[in-house]
Amino acid sequence: MRLGAILIFLIFISCRPTYDLLVKNGQIYDGLGRPAVRGDVAIKNHHFVKVGGVIKGKSKQVIDASGMALAPGFIDLHAHIEPISLYPDAKSHVMQGVTTALGGPDGGSPLPIGAYLDSLLVTGIGLNVGYLIGHNTVRNHVMGLVNRQPTDQEMEKMQRLISVGMQDGAFGISTGLKYLPGAFASTEEVIGLSKIAAAEGGIYTSHLREEGLGLLDGVAEAILIAREADMTVVLTHHKAIGQPMWGSSVKTLAMVDEARKEGLDVRMDQYPYTASHTGISIVIPAWALEGGIQAFSDRCQDKLLRDSIRSGIIYNLINDRGGNDLRRMQFSKIDWKPDFLGKTLHDVVIGEGKEPTIENGAEMIIEIQLHRGANCIYHVIDSADVANIMQHPMTMIASDGRLTQMNEGHPHPRAYGTFPRVLGHYARDLKIITLTEAIRKMTSLPAETLGLTDRGIIAEKMWADLVIFDPVKVIDRSTFTDPHQFPDGIEYVIINGVISVDQGDFRDSRSGQVLRKAKQTNRTKNASKSVKK
Ligand SMILES: [Zn+2]
Repeated sequence: MRLGAILIFLIFISCRPTYDLLVKNGQIYDGLGRPAVRGDVAIKNHHFVKVGGVIKGKSKQVIDASGMALAPGFIDLHAHIEPISLYPDAKSHVMQGVTTALGGPDGGSPLPIGAYLDSLLVTGIGLNVGYLIGHNTVRNHVMGLVNRQPTDQEMEKMQRLISVGMQDGAFGISTGLKYLPGAFASTEEVIGLSKIAAAEGGIYTSHLREEGLGLLDGVAEAILIAREADMTVVLTHHKAIGQPMWGSSVKTLAMVDEARKEGLDVRMDQYPYTASHTGISIVIPAWALEGGIQAFSDRCQDKLLRDSIRSGIIYNLINDRGGNDLRRMQFSKIDWKPDFLGKTLHDVVIGEGKEPTIENGAEMIIEIQLHRGANCIYHVIDSADVANIMQHPMTMIASDGRLTQMNEGHPHPRAYGTFPRVLGHYARDLKIITLTEAIRKMTSLPAETLGLTDRGIIAEKMWADLVIFDPVKVIDRSTFTDPHQFPDGIEYVIINGVISVDQGDFRDSRSGQVLRKAKQTNRTKNASKSVKK
């Protein structure tokens, strides 16, 4: 009787699969920039348990990855995941191979972060998310949209909020010094707040004060903050905006190299496009927007003030994000006037029966802002700067893309195509960087930046975030005229060991985790229960 029971137990053990998922015959890019090696990868309990060579043993699921490349899941260091409660599956990101996204960019974040992170665990999320705490959000909360320096008390309040955000698991602080109310903040204020994040090991991610004419000063300010607050700084979506600044990436990269020689940890991220995307108010002088929409509207009633607002916009249209041509601004989101979607400011001005002059464009922008504003795509970046920045070893790939769903608005194509575009267009076709380097910029480099020691590399004991793509086919398909298209060639996306893209088809598996600095929690549907480090 006893012998029989032991026998049955032994048979049971020998029939049990050794692995949850076995990926066979792939070209394994480990994420560290080393040459690919051919072999298998085995996953069990949401982690890589064996990497390389021929792996024997039973597995619940097997993927034949012959002819495919295996890379660690992509980590998007600048992601507009604000709509994640609306689109918890995060399909537009996951379909391009993103397994981890960092939210709270450009100075905007949830507040308080702790409660928000807890709320994400209720529905489950389609990818791993972490957050930065946003300076603009904190300043607005304490001071409102005012153009002045904080009192000592206000500064203390802001510092406390940053400190609580860090305790709640933020990975650092972000600023949007081009946006309100960040534009009203002094460098000293940003240093004083960044130090609080630095004390908890956080990073500082800077949407620079200027990316056009004032770009070099903007870079210098971010480097100064790195030095004074003694922390890692990421110049996010690094670029040179507007024709007068084209070519100046040579100078900004030299500044980064100089700072790094000094021992400062200055890094960059970048999206692989020659157009930016943001609210139309970016071309309106910041002083005109102080106090919010009613105050702006009041100023526009005053003829003298309206003239000087118009002059400020004209200056920006010529020298900065307008690109000196109304055809360079294209509407991407305008809820109250959907027939503008996809059209350029040039088309819209003509549609109103006017000449497409810069002056008429400026007047139209005032009118649009007086309604409920709009988001635009700005075709004002030079391809040589894109290539130059991409080739820098400390540049990471990040989308700056907003979670979206099919046929909603007219998004920047980066929302669907960033990572496949770098792999297919920039690495394979243009050979701007190698495939191994492209993968490093999407995986181990951002993981290291965030201090994630258990992701971003294909190695034993790491979380099993994995992208399997066809290196011959991989390419973005989303374009400026027809953005709602998923990429080609991303065959499988595996998040914490769970398949989320299966032979190119999306599966709503919600296996993402909420990542908190220094500790991680996970109560989502499909991944493991406790993941404390
Ligand atoms: Zn930004």
